[in-house]
Amino acid sequence: MNKESANQPDLNNLQDRLANSNEMFRTLAENTPAIIYILQGERFVYVNPSFINISGYSKDEAYQMTFWHFLTPESQTVTIKNMELRKENPNLTLRYEVQARAKDGQLYWLDLNTSPFTFNGKPATLVSAFDITKLKADEEALRISEARFKALSDASFEGIIISENGICINANQRACQFLGYEYEEMVGMPVSAMISPESRETVQRNMVNGYELPYEATVVGKDSALYHVEIQGRMFSYQGRQVRAASIRNLTFRKEQELEIEKHTRRFQALFYNSPDAVVLCDLNLLISDINPCFTELFGYNRQECLGQPLDQILVPHDLKHEYDTHVRLVLDGNTSVTETIRRTKDGRNINVIVKVIPVEYFGCFVIYSDISDRKRQEATIKQQLDELEKKNAEMERFTYTVSHDLRSPLITIKGFAGLLIDNLKRGQLERLDQDLERILNAANKMDDLLHDLLELSRVGRLLNPFTQFSMTDLVQEVVELITGSMQNKEIEILVSPALPDVVADRARIFEVMQNLIENGIKFMGDQTKPCIIVDVYDNNDEFIFSVSDNGIGIETRYYDTIFGLFEKLNPNVEGTGIGLSIVKRIIEFHQGRIWVESSGPGRGSTFYFSLPKLYYAN
Ligand code: ADP
Repeated sequence: MNKESANQPDLNNLQDRLANSNEMFRTLAENTPAIIYILQGERFVYVNPSFINISGYSKDEAYQMTFWHFLTPESQTVTIKNMELRKENPNLTLRYEVQARAKDGQLYWLDLNTSPFTFNGKPATLVSAFDITKLKADEEALRISEARFKALSDASFEGIIISENGICINANQRACQFLGYEYEEMVGMPVSAMISPESRETVQRNMVNGYELPYEATVVGKDSALYHVEIQGRMFSYQGRQVRAASIRNLTFRKEQELEIEKHTRRFQALFYNSPDAVVLCDLNLLISDINPCFTELFGYNRQECLGQPLDQILVPHDLKHEYDTHVRLVLDGNTSVTETIRRTKDGRNINVIVKVIPVEYFGCFVIYSDISDRKRQEATIKQQLDELEKKNAEMERFTYTVSHDLRSPLITIKGFAGLLIDNLKRGQLERLDQDLERILNAANKMDDLLHDLLELSRVGRLLNPFTQFSMTDLVQEVVELITGSMQNKEIEILVSPALPDVVADRARIFEVMQNLIENGIKFMGDQTKPCIIVDVYDNNDEFIFSVSDNGIGIETRYYDTIFGLFEKLNPNVEGTGIGLSIVKRIIEFHQGRIWVESSGPGRGSTFYFSLPKLYYAN
């Protein structure tokens, strides 16, 4: 046996083996970072350096104390429970956590491992422990931060899902509710299972690439319903791991709302832009926010010129500002107002409009302008036609009266002389027979003339010949030849302008006009020694004005209108029915022309003018 082997303990020897084992325990216990102590009953019989280090007590101080001294009241309770267990089963190894107090009052946590032990031949408890104070603090911090996260994320209006490697590791209430899963179902579920197949690739790509901007996708709920959502993801560190948090906002409702709004907007725009009325949208300050095309058409302003402009400055004529202000007050009180008024266009025209102002809550108002110029014109035309009709009615009344009166006078003559004739015949007095019969005949002729002229007048309204193009020079020439042929001993000079144009009209009727006017000129020449009649023309843009002048008896200004009336004769002794100028006037009016007379006074001649519109004859 060598020296070395002589120093070796004899492991077969029980004493040596125990000593060796004690030595090994001591070495281990003295050097381990673990806290090791041995209790016999409630007292420390061994404490290692790590225990001294953490508790702050020296070995001697520790050996003077029971271990209850070290424990917080809560940990004492836990320990008592474990000791009960130990009593039932003495060989049990127990592991539990306690909180202890160091000499300086600091609290620390220990993870205890207690096992039955024999120390110095007596039963004891061997306790090995680890300082888990930091771990506990970390756990608490984590618990607090998780609670805070949960509270925050549950309060969020958006769904929040935290995933790690594509697996959901946390989700807030809203995300669970939204997708229809329980929290426990969500956690552990692959994120891809919550995404619709068509969005899956996009979502996965964004998760892998750490894309952080919002994007739209479709998610699928537990009940397979699809929801259009906006997702925004972000990588962050969670419990020391790199995870991805994604907020999910349901756009389906918003999309539906947007669609609804768009539908309304489209309908409104269709109405606004296609309205046959001019419409302007004003804000609460009555500044123009928008106008429709009809507004531009009616008032001449384009959109650019109107936007932001005060409505009244653009449209309201100065003298109507007061009326406008009254409107504004009504509208600001939330009333709809309708007025018929006048508004000014860009080029300074005043137009008749009906303005309807409809207040729009929180925004301003719509102002609708209906152009009633046409209606106004029609009203004016109707009024004019009514006036004319009234005039015609009055004329008709006068006509009936005059006709019956003028027709009656030859009849009375006829009746009177016929009675006389019979009396004279009865008495056999035949000497006045010829004279009386002639009177009867004259009266009958006068009636015939009257009826003829009346018939002629009524014809003018009913019978117009087709319009043709003809030379006025030729026509006047023919009239002059006709008249001078039937003239006896009257040396009258008739001068016809060489400038008479071609016209398009009813030739036969214009012939009547010329004949009538020239014949009147001759008839009312008086005792003029150098009688003269001039037919002339004046080119007045879109019409010709013809004139027939004489140097005869003339006409007083007050008769300028009356002579065109029926049966109007300024001198009752002059032959004629007084219908001629009425017929002439009617013919000219049927040609859309005018007729009037001017005279320098009695004895100074008269000039009759009539106009004919320039018409173009298409063969
Ligand atoms: P008539 O058919 O009997 O000729 P008119 O209607 O032609 O009657 O004329 C009406 C009246 O107008 C005449 O009776 C006359 O007093 C007046 N008058 C018409 N032409 C002239 C004229 N050239 N100069 C003066 N008086 C005229």
